[in-house]
Amino acid sequence: MINYTDGLSRLMRDIVQRVPTLSFIDMNRVLVFARSGRSDAEGAFATCHCICLPPSEPGYYFWRDRTTGRLTRRSQWFVTRSPEVQVGTKPIDYMVSFTLPRFCDQVLARSRKQVHYKGQPNWVGKLDTIVHELYHIDPARPGIRRMERADGTYSANCHGDRFFEDVVAMVHHYLETKPDPAVLDVLRYHFDELCGRSGGIAGLAFRGYPSYPQRYIQVLDPQPPSPDGVRCRVEPLTVPSLRASYTADDLVLRQFLRTASRRLAPAHGREVRAA
Ligand SMILES: [Zn+2]
Repeated sequence: MINYTDGLSRLMRDIVQRVPTLSFIDMNRVLVFARSGRSDAEGAFATCHCICLPPSEPGYYFWRDRTTGRLTRRSQWFVTRSPEVQVGTKPIDYMVSFTLPRFCDQVLARSRKQVHYKGQPNWVGKLDTIVHELYHIDPARPGIRRMERADGTYSANCHGDRFFEDVVAMVHHYLETKPDPAVLDVLRYHFDELCGRSGGIAGLAFRGYPSYPQRYIQVLDPQPPSPDGVRCRVEPLTVPSLRASYTADDLVLRQFLRTASRRLAPAHGREVRAA
């Protein structure tokens, strides 16, 4: 069975070595994992998740009386935090998830990308997706890259025409460096072809699938006093209990099928040593 997320990680390591704009990325701090996504349904091929943002400023939810505008009640103080994920020796800063089988079945001819890659094979569309997700990593500060507009202000979303054009230029640059065809093999085949060639597709996922590390709310303890002039009822905040930290023990391999997935084994089996 092919370990698809391993193959994608290897390709991403090669890309950041060959594309100067992405050379700041330390792939030891980027975790690649798989999620389910049907090929015949709309949705993302991949997503870049930033998990290195500092905690938010303390805040609370509040409710006002519609007629008087007066504050009637507020929630407890809370902050939002990124989970800690440590797989190797260094903490993970970003995760890139790929939806299977949708990502494998991406077809250039049916996408807006085709004008940039005339005459190129379908798998170049998948390479575009990978470079796109890596380009979301901000070189200057923790977070998702902000795109500057021509007037020097930042675009409200993290894309914009220049983002897509930059990605196309990086894809062409990478291909011009003549990467080892074996590194690109992971992109060459669609899902059924890959399954036929390798006996199945496995990918790294988290225990408790389909959940994965996400930013979570932490109620402050002790609670700071109410801000000046705010006098109203304070309601306890009930938040879902999301994990705050993850290690290699939380990773498992799953086999991805056309419309389902099943767990195979712990991704990092513990070695048992006899004395
Ligand atoms: Zn994007």
